[in-house]
Amino acid sequence: MYYSDDTIVYLDGKWTKAKDASLTLYNQSLHYGNAVFEGIRSYETEDGTLIFKAKEHYDRLHFSAQKMQIPLALSSETLTKLSYELLKKNNLTNAYIRPLIYPGENMSLVSGDDSHVLLCAWEWGRYLGDSLLRLMTSSFQRPNPKACFVEAKVTGHYTNSILATTEAKQEGFDEALLLDSNGFVAEGPGANFFFEKDEVLYTPKLGNILPGITRQTIFELANEMGIEVRESQFKVEDVYAADGAFFTGTAAEVAGIESLDGKNFGLQWSDTIGYELSRAYNNRVQKKEYKNFELV
Ligand code: PMP
Repeated sequence: MYYSDDTIVYLDGKWTKAKDASLTLYNQSLHYGNAVFEGIRSYETEDGTLIFKAKEHYDRLHFSAQKMQIPLALSSETLTKLSYELLKKNNLTNAYIRPLIYPGENMSLVSGDDSHVLLCAWEWGRYLGDSLLRLMTSSFQRPNPKACFVEAKVTGHYTNSILATTEAKQEGFDEALLLDSNGFVAEGPGANFFFEKDEVLYTPKLGNILPGITRQTIFELANEMGIEVRESQFKVEDVYAADGAFFTGTAAEVAGIESLDGKNFGLQWSDTIGYELSRAYNNRVQKKEYKNFELV
């Protein structure tokens, strides 16, 4: 699904076939979850294949690496250039790019001096699918920001995400919504969360969530469309009373939500601001214009 016999990846300065690449079993990421990564999308546009917000993603990768003290010598510009080469070598246009920076052999609990750079890409549909989502409030909380750097994209944080999504699926829901360690709404396992009430958008403030690049794009679009967005702290009950809600993420894009804990939102998805923003987002990533919320 992720690669074929012909797939090429970038690994430590070389272009290698994915099927021939290898890594040491004594790698610190494999044992202790220490690595940093990104999830980036490219889109086919009138100007050719374009990586959406490559600089923002690679700058966040640098931020994550610096927080975890994992060396990353390649600049955001170089990583962007390599990403375009990667797409070309694999004949990809609409693709998902996964950079991963992982430490080498190291069975200690101290950051080491060496690291590896992997860039791979594959075609990936919208991560949460195209249907409206039925969420459950997770029994798992997001990691305590005093226990780790929640604003860094670290592989180990995703054990929390895996627990939450697995629980939600096993309970018959599509996805989880996690609260923070103070009981306020935080985010999804792999996406930021917004809800709307009386034509105002609300989203959890930074502090317990990944500062999403799609979240930022929603702020930009909402601003251009004259939609008010308030960042604050919310209880689950605030969400139950919402008119609509959606997740945002590079992989998920803008994913409409139908219900939380079996309680449906007040409006049909197609009547929400979220829906208009999902269309505006699609246009933005594909560099199409939008006017008065209409596709042109
Ligand atoms: N929160 C979490 C936990 C995520 O894994 C992601 C996906 N990277 C997001 C939010 C959304 O971030 P972005 O919009 O930058 O993809």
